[in-house]
Parts: sequence; structure tokens; C-alpha cells
Amino acid sequence: MALIVQKYGGTSVGDVERILNVARRVKETYDAGNQVVVVVSARSGVTNELIARAKSISSKPDNREMDMLLCVGEQETIALLAMALQSLGVPAVSRTGAQAGMLTDKSHTKARITGVTGGDIPDRLAEGKVVVVAGFQGQTSDGEMTTLGRGGSDLSAIAIAYALRAQICQIYTDVDGVYTADPRVVKTAKKLKEMSYDQMLELASSGSKVMQARAVEFAQKFNVPFEVRSSFNNNPGTIVKKKISSMEDFVVSGVAIDNNESKITLRGLPDDSVTVAKIFQALAEDRIIVDLIIQNVGHDGLVNLTFSVNTDDVARAEEVVNKCLSQLGIKSTAQNAGKIAVVALVGVGMISNSGIAAKFFKALSEKNIKMQMIATSEIRLSAAVDPSQANAAAEAIHEAFELGKDI
Ligand code: ADP
Ligand code: ASP
Ligand code: MG
Repeated sequence: MALIVQKYGGTSVGDVERILNVARRVKETYDAGNQVVVVVSARSGVTNELIARAKSISSKPDNREMDMLLCVGEQETIALLAMALQSLGVPAVSRTGAQAGMLTDKSHTKARITGVTGGDIPDRLAEGKVVVVAGFQGQTSDGEMTTLGRGGSDLSAIAIAYALRAQICQIYTDVDGVYTADPRVVKTAKKLKEMSYDQMLELASSGSKVMQARAVEFAQKFNVPFEVRSSFNNNPGTIVKKKISSMEDFVVSGVAIDNNESKITLRGLPDDSVTVAKIFQALAEDRIIVDLIIQNVGHDGLVNLTFSVNTDDVARAEEVVNKCLSQLGIKSTAQNAGKIAVVALVGVGMISNSGIAAKFFKALSEKNIKMQMIATSEIRLSAAVDPSQANAAAEAIHEAFELGKDI
């Protein structure tokens, strides 16, 4: 007998038929004599729909009220799945994030986990019940509802697997593993049998939404191995763990596309590092993550600065930067310069391998894809392109680095 945590994402619980399908799969694991905790997302589209509804009322809805609203999505699914299990004769009970002891700080909509107890889950498991937990949500020490950022049910599953010392953590989704690129975009993408936390983190933090980056970070920190697999078939998935055999070599893990970034441009800033430092400090204090940055020399000792942030944060980033500029007495204003897609080649040892950048740029230039911003780091080489060219760019890079080939 093992204690197994299974997480089912939005598409896997997308409608009543799919919830029943999940219930049947959970029953199989339960009938085989295992203790099962199931973490679920909201039905696909529900979280987006709730966000859109809030935004139709207010362009900047209050974050506490957003969390109150967004928790609804997962709460619907836990109740329906518990009912579906019961209808199959499996004793089951649902738990909210708060009931499962998911404690967080107070940063609404992006809350960070401060502790996870598991609540009464061990007692319910001991009674022979399957426990169905709402992903994505937590609670502050004051009893306020919080959410863990988009894709946060992955994090809930990993944290609960850790808290309960589960033997296995399975992330069930709508693809049968982690590929060298999004298999829906790059048809020649290859499924990886196993990968290290580092590799998964590189892909996830570059925009491959198959796993939330924060969930991978948590798994790495507390060493929680997990498997990504399909909720629609029984194909073996991808195991993500500490070390894999090929890690000694230079490894390109894959190509990631982040379709959810926007550019902010500031013209005519004073040419000193203090101003730029203050702007990025203000953004950091607001927990806004900046991805790519470029600074051009302008006229008369003034400079232009462009940087990219997640599109969900763009309105807030504009506001934060403009407040900072007015406090500094600088005339320039931050302007939303539209959406971009960031296409990245990710792997270990990017910088130390010569020739990588040349091959990357050649692949894009051969397809006439213009790069708007470029950045390199030890783990990735990324370029901002027009969103309409993102898929073509990913395919070109995937092909140039022969990622579809067997090693
Ligand atoms: P869930 O709702 O189960 O959490 P997501 O939609 O968040 O699922 O993540 C699964 C999706 O991630 C897939 O449908 C696929 O299009 C996308 N994806 C992006 N990059 C990759 C990759 N490298 N490997 C597999 N899937 C990827
Ligand atoms: N429902 C949340 C979202 O759409 C959390 C998740 O699906 O993981 O972001
Ligand atoms: Mg997801």
C-alpha cells in the first residue's frame, strides 16, 4: 500500500463526463489498495472567466476580493469529484485549501506558502476515504482566503505530497509528459522519459506551462519527485527528480514559448544607474517579475528603457513605475508597448558553449523572424518576437538544435 497524491488539471476535469473519468481512474488506484489524495483545478476556462468578469466590473479589482472569487472555481470541482467518487462506491470527502492546512502569506493572488500541515487528511485516509483537495488556494494566519498564482494547483499537489510524505506524486494533464517543446506547437517534439528538477525548472520558468515554475522550485527544495502523465491514456509519463544519468553533459532541455508577456517603454530617462535601480526596486517591492530588459542611448544624455513583464502584471507595472518616476521628479511616463512572445532555448551551460547564440540567431533569420529583445543567462537564450511568429520561431529553433532526434 502506498500513499499517492494525484493532481488533475483543468482540462482533465473540464466537464461532468471528464470528472467521472477522473473518478474512475482514482477508483482504480484506490481499489489496488492505495491511499489516495486527489488535488484538482477548476474546470478549464473557469478561472479565466472569473477574472474576465471581475475586470468587466473594475479594471483593477481588489486583490483580496479576487481571491475570494477565484477560490470558487476549485471549490466546485472538489465537491463534484467527491460526489462522483461516492457514486462509484468510493468513500470520499472534499477539503478546501484552508481545510488541508495550506498556510500562506498575505500577498493576495500570488501568495507564498508559509507552511502546510495537511489538516485532518491523515485521519480521513485512515478511515479508508479518498480525500479531494482544492488546488490553487490557501489561507493566511488571519483566516483570509488566498491563491497561489496561475497554475498554482501544481504547487498545491507538490506541497501536499511533501506534507503527507506521499510515496508518489502524479501530475495528470492533457499531454502525456514533458516534451522538448510544446507538442501542440512543434510536431517533432520528443517526450523526455526523465529530467532533473533543474531542467524542468528551466522550461517552466521560461513559459512552458505544463508545470508551474513555483511548484518545481518547491519540489526541488524539498526533494519531492513527481511524474507528469496523461489523464486520458496510460502511457508512461516523464519522471522529474534530483539527478538523471545524462546530467554531466551539456544538455539542451528544450524550447519554451511564453505567450503572456508585454513590453513597457520609458523614453527620455536621465542617463544614470540610480534611476534605473529605483525603477526596478519599485517593481520588485510589488513582486512584479521583469524578464527581458534593454536600454538604448537616446539624445541629449537621455536614455530609453524597455522591459517585459507578464501581461497580467502590465497595468500594475505601469502604475508602479509612474508613481516611482513622479516621486523622483522625472517627466518620462511608462507606456504599455504591446504584447510580445518570448521564445527561449533552455538548457544547462548556455553561456559556456560557444556557437549556441550563432545557431539560434541563424535559425530565426532564415525564417525572417525579427528579434525585438534578446537575453542570455547560464540556463537560457531568449528572444522577444512578435506573437504571430512565436510558433514558427519555436519550430525553427527546435529544428536547428535537432531536439526531435533520439540522443
Ligand atoms: P493543466 O490544466 O493540466 O494544469 P496546462 O494547460 O496548465 O494543464 O499544461 C498542459 C499544457 O502545457 C499542454 O496542453 C501543452 O500544450 C503545454 N506545454 C507547453 N510546453 C510543454 C512541454 N514542453 N511539454 C508538454 N506540454 C507543454
Ligand atoms: N485554476 C487555476 C488557474 O487556472 C489554478 C490551476 O489550474 O492550476 O490558474
Ligand atoms: Mg497547469
